[in-house]
Amino acid sequence: MAVQRYSRQRELIYNAVRASRDHPTAEMVYAALKGDHPNLSLGTVYRNLHLLAREGKLRRMPFPVERFDGEVTPHHHFCCEACGRVMDVSLPYDASLDRAAAGCGLVTHHATVFYGLCTQCRQAEQAAKPPRCLSPVRRGKGQNTKKEM
Ligand SMILES: [Zn+2]
Ligand SMILES: [Zn+2]
Repeated sequence: MAVQRYSRQRELIYNAVRASRDHPTAEMVYAALKGDHPNLSLGTVYRNLHLLAREGKLRRMPFPVERFDGEVTPHHHFCCEACGRVMDVSLPYDASLDRAAAGCGLVTHHATVFYGLCTQCRQAEQAAKPPRCLSPVRRGKGQNTKKEM
């Protein structure tokens, strides 16, 4: 009985990550499911995510904040430094790099992470910024920029 309940929860958690393009954290998966499944605990979500990752069904992404990817074929990522969102980057996967790195040991895959500002954060930043000529003088920051020659 208990075993069945656990595997149903695992299925539920697996499907939630598969359906998401957000590379969710355990907390995000929990938040998405707890409305319909009030018996679910964050600990259960966490435990099942790790189990699924160990089984190769999800990929654990040890960023500063641990996330999980429903897409397990190797691919690249973009991480927004402002909001922390992680997106897939559709660049070709260069398997020759794995072969080139084989001197280190058994290379299973590689992952490139691009960092910067996502489109939304960029737009928000630009919208928040008043036109340069109207911007108030800010606490002298950058005012006495020395021109070193
Ligand atoms: Zn962002
Ligand atoms: Zn991904």
